[in-house]
Amino acid sequence: MALDLEAIYTDLHRHPELSFQETRTAGVVGAHLTALGIPFEAGIGRTGIAATLANGDGPVVWLRADMDALPVEERTGLPYASTARGVDPAGNDVPVMHACGHDMHTTALLGALERLAATREEWSGTVVGVFQPAEELGAGSRAMLGDGLLRRVPHPDIVLGQHITALPAGVVGMRPGTQMTASDGLTVTLYGRGGHGSRPHATIDPVVMAAATIMRLQTLVAREVDPRETAVVTVGSVHSGLKHNIIPAEATLQLSLRYTDDEARERMLGRVERVVRGEAAAAGAEREPSIVIDHTLPPTINDPVSEARTADAFRRAFGEQAVTDPGLFTGSEDVSWFARDAGVPLVFWFWGGLDHDVYATALAAGTVDRDIPTIHSPLFAPVLHPTIERGVANLVVAAREWLA
Ligand code: ZN
Ligand code: ZN
Repeated sequence: MALDLEAIYTDLHRHPELSFQETRTAGVVGAHLTALGIPFEAGIGRTGIAATLANGDGPVVWLRADMDALPVEERTGLPYASTARGVDPAGNDVPVMHACGHDMHTTALLGALERLAATREEWSGTVVGVFQPAEELGAGSRAMLGDGLLRRVPHPDIVLGQHITALPAGVVGMRPGTQMTASDGLTVTLYGRGGHGSRPHATIDPVVMAAATIMRLQTLVAREVDPRETAVVTVGSVHSGLKHNIIPAEATLQLSLRYTDDEARERMLGRVERVVRGEAAAAGAEREPSIVIDHTLPPTINDPVSEARTADAFRRAFGEQAVTDPGLFTGSEDVSWFARDAGVPLVFWFWGGLDHDVYATALAAGTVDRDIPTIHSPLFAPVLHPTIERGVANLVVAAREWLA
């Protein structure tokens, strides 16, 4: 029985689930693995699944896909658009969308396992399909590893993974060395003193403190980072207050920081702390702000030799033009922990999901950044074909390159 990958994709797209809540998704994956006769373990790192396709002696290749979705309200207008809602870790009711394309990753990995299982006579070795939860929290790979993943499935010789992106369908983007930056997610809480909105002099206003802090944080990359380095400081969330005429007692900021290596990370964390504490002191805060690191993602670094070999396999399979160097991505991934903990090389690539004409028009007009919705956008909408087929083919070609 052949999997209907389009139906699997649109079903997963309609039913996105937030990080560590991927129970339905894991159920769908498990049901298809069962139908394919591929043994698997579920519930690894809460909702993760590892499927083992053993086929005699030879190398062990891990293929990784992530399964979680984001608190984004879908605005694509697609017939299979999500209207799902979920409860975020803070207990809020939020819209949920597969705005990062992890539904495509999951679909492609199922398709690749099906294809590899159907062509067993052409290769030998072992393929482990790792369906990971909670990539968006930067916690899912650690959760699976912490739950004994390396003990529970054969040890890899290489870890392979892919992410859909806003490149034209049919294009693979990959580079040796640092492919994606490292990142940290921080929660900063600023403490003021609340009171009546008509009596600001009797309060310490955390709203103004937050505003000053946000603006000062925006000078870090512009004024303190060497222009030849890559770094990002984003304040993605700011919350304070409930009503016009009440000065609240505290404000909360959530920051996303990016850098290419560990030293740059240490420097930036120091700068952020200096600004946060400095602005609180300038405001006369009576209590030190709190700074909590919610998650840390390592840089995604492609082993140069393994990257070159995999890219060559893609060129042989899809043509010379099919592989481009997309440059450094300032997004981050937690896929690296699998390879780091196992002590083996990682190769991670991007694959395009955009209609060629739409992309070419925007490119010609110089409006790619404005007009092409990227991952995490409420408008992100990869074309179904050939994106699904190429997602499958990428994994199969790459896996076969490393299997015997
Ligand atoms: Zn994402
Ligand atoms: Zn993603």
